[in-house]
Amino acid sequence: MTPGNENRRFHGTKINCFLGLDGNITTCDSTSCYVCRIINESYRLPPLTNRTFQRFGAGVYLSATSSKSNDYCKSVNNNEYKYMFLNNVLIGRGKKLKTNNKSLTSPSPGFDSVLGENGEDLNYDEVVVYSVDQVIPKYLIIYK
Ligand SMILES: [Zn+2]
Repeated sequence: MTPGNENRRFHGTKINCFLGLDGNITTCDSTSCYVCRIINESYRLPPLTNRTFQRFGAGVYLSATSSKSNDYCKSVNNNEYKYMFLNNVLIGRGKKLKTNNKSLTSPSPGFDSVLGENGEDLNYDEVVVYSVDQVIPKYLIIYK
């Protein structure tokens, strides 16, 4: 744990263009290209829906386990590479949860984030923040 509990965490997401390939360093304008949206506009809190993967509600999901984040990487338009951000995350005081709570829109009072712990509903760790100011993308990893 670092002072203030700032740590690096992975976030895998969808790419809809060929950023970083063949000298292409220009982000695209597609609203469905989440890689370019994060680079240009920062993370965005998702609407509170009943999606399967929002086990802790409407937050930004990150993990220390890159293979877990890899499961959320999706490339379209025949791009054979995957894209994953490595972020600085202000975890602060994390509320540990082992079971799903899909209605969350913030951590419990007195906490700054939710720490999903493996054991019951989760197989791998995750951290969820409910303010986009708590997560800063630092590196973009492009890989096959
Ligand atoms: Zn793009």
